[in-house]
Amino acid sequence: MAPPPARDQRHGPAVRDLLRLARLGDIDGVRDQIARVSGCANPVQLTGYSATLDPATGEALHVFTSDDEPTGRLLIPCGNRRASRCPSCSRLYAADTYHLIRAGLTGGKTVPDTVRDHPRVFLTLTAPSFGPVHHRPTNRPCRCGQHHHPDAPELGTPLHPPTYDYTGAVLWNAHASALWARFMTHLRRAVAATLGLSQRALRTHLRISFAKVAEYQKRGLVHFHAVLRLDGPDGSATPPPPPATAAVLIHAVREAADRAALTLDSHAVGERTIRWGPQLDVREITAFGHRTELTDRAVAGYVAKYATKGAEASGTVDHPLYCPTCRGTGTHGTTPCRPCDGTGEGIPLRHLASRTHTRQMVRTCWELGRLTEFTDLRLWKWAHMLGFRGHFSTRSRRYSTTLTALRDTRRAWRTTQAHTRLNHPTPTTLITESSWSYLGTGYTPAEHLLATTIRHEHSLALQFHHEGGPAA
Ligand SMILES: [Zn+2]
Ligand SMILES: [Zn+2]
Ligand SMILES: [Zn+2]
Repeated sequence: MAPPPARDQRHGPAVRDLLRLARLGDIDGVRDQIARVSGCANPVQLTGYSATLDPATGEALHVFTSDDEPTGRLLIPCGNRRASRCPSCSRLYAADTYHLIRAGLTGGKTVPDTVRDHPRVFLTLTAPSFGPVHHRPTNRPCRCGQHHHPDAPELGTPLHPPTYDYTGAVLWNAHASALWARFMTHLRRAVAATLGLSQRALRTHLRISFAKVAEYQKRGLVHFHAVLRLDGPDGSATPPPPPATAAVLIHAVREAADRAALTLDSHAVGERTIRWGPQLDVREITAFGHRTELTDRAVAGYVAKYATKGAEASGTVDHPLYCPTCRGTGTHGTTPCRPCDGTGEGIPLRHLASRTHTRQMVRTCWELGRLTEFTDLRLWKWAHMLGFRGHFSTRSRRYSTTLTALRDTRRAWRTTQAHTRLNHPTPTTLITESSWSYLGTGYTPAEHLLATTIRHEHSLALQFHHEGGPAA
């Protein structure tokens, strides 16, 4: 008869690892460490130290080293925006985006609150049609004759896939950011023309600030939601000239959306014009809404939601698909790439667990990526985004504060807290010296378990808060 397994071997890896942590003697410390990164799903692990030195004597006033952490390493949040990758970091990203958009609408975080009196509009720009898709019209069935359920997987997929213009759809996504830039140029021109100014004169009187987020529609095409604001020549601190009203801005938006176009001239796919679709929505944002009016608070909420929803809703893939060895080319000089068998695919695309429609968009990226005339679009790299290679959330320089500024503020606050705990004065003239090296990412099995519990507690607290309980 086989001897009984060693005591630890009777348990799964997570329990064995928990026993190991317990033997370290500071399981609460381990838990606190994970709670400090809010249960981040995939934290970065570092070892090293930071020392605060007295500038006069060079004496170390305070040393923080990873040896002080119960597991001997420091954890840093991954900062991923996607909820599928890290629920807690994506929540923080949404909160930061909300504050950023809100500051640009109502003031705060270095933006004066007089921006509330500047003309502001909320705008949605969409892609044109590349063929009929299954959808849910309000009062009648879909063109296929069915009434689709709101969660039906066929929504947004072509009624007739063989004639759907996949090439047009992918090329549109790939040029969406450039089309936005073109739109902004036309917008400045249109505002200048309405006010009877030259473009150069416009800059000495007025600025157009914006914050925009990209969102995928069910059909896998990106569209933009944006806040536009008219400022004086110095940005948010100065009001625009009185004739520049919200009505002027709305009129100019319509004109610019109509005029903005990019022309592609390709031997393989012919001449194509990239434009916005006919569905344009533009509305004034008011400070205090009555009934149907759009308030700045509501807008900041929408924008933050769209920013984190990002790519996930449409069934795009949350990681790049090209072969990392050959970066999608399938070759190394003249020899085919061994790991991908010369296909350039990281995993065979036919194994991609997604809707046929999404796979077809990805395949189209792959095919167009082979054409030298589209090399600049780097379609292999962005195939998982169905060709879109822009940022999900962008702002003009003068809109409000930045995500980096918000993170710096948070870091400074944490440092101050740490120093207060240690009875040190806040370092204003002190020198810091540090050396950190990268160990890896993620958790051990037991830490993973602890992180899951922490995330669960956070989401319960949040739910409680939304249901009217006091803030957690
Ligand atoms: Zn994270
Ligand atoms: Zn249908
Ligand atoms: Zn390869």
